[in-house]
Amino acid sequence: MENVKAVVVFSGGQDSTTCLFWALENFAEVEAVTFDYNQRHITEIECAKNITRELGIRHHILDMALLNQLAPNALTRDNIEVKDGEDGELPSTFVPGRNLLFLSFAGVLARGIGAKHIVTGVCETDFSGYPDCRDVFIKSLNVTLNLSMDEPFVIHTPLMWLNKAETWKLADELGAFSFVREKTLTCYNGIISDGCGECPACMLRQKGLQDYLKVRGEC
Ligand SMILES: [Zn+2]
Repeated sequence: MENVKAVVVFSGGQDSTTCLFWALENFAEVEAVTFDYNQRHITEIECAKNITRELGIRHHILDMALLNQLAPNALTRDNIEVKDGEDGELPSTFVPGRNLLFLSFAGVLARGIGAKHIVTGVCETDFSGYPDCRDVFIKSLNVTLNLSMDEPFVIHTPLMWLNKAETWKLADELGAFSFVREKTLTCYNGIISDGCGECPACMLRQKGLQDYLKVRGEC
């Protein structure tokens, strides 16, 4: 491959950390980008910083506070409850335009640092109703990004068709199972590793982990 540098959209969670390890396996040079949009828990940014520091990866943190200004939601406001969407409604954690904006800014950053590859942990399998996690959206945005900057970017989505158990399996295959389990933050209540165990994000993560451990014959 002529250009082997990749930018990983990185939140410090299970999915994007698995993507980071996937990128380290597949590209000679990897950098990470985290978006700061006043997430409820600053722990998320700290967690992302710690992981990239430990892995020796150059880490860009971009200020996206305007997202909070435009679209207040359960991830940024304490007074909005985290809940799943009912009857076809989107969950309260949905941030309109988030992946559109994040991936566009990741593209601009990629151009600036000479990377052609952009890696994101979006996933259509456990479709929680986020329209900007769908494969068709990513493909469409890839075309738009390339046209907007006249660049041959490739957006990679290694988790697109994996369920949560398969994402744990991928982390395991990459030799990162314990790292991902112990050092990442998925919990909406800001508790690292196995989390609070009660919020929707923890329940999804736990279920996938238990399913995978069963397959691995450990419980
Ligand atoms: Zn939790």
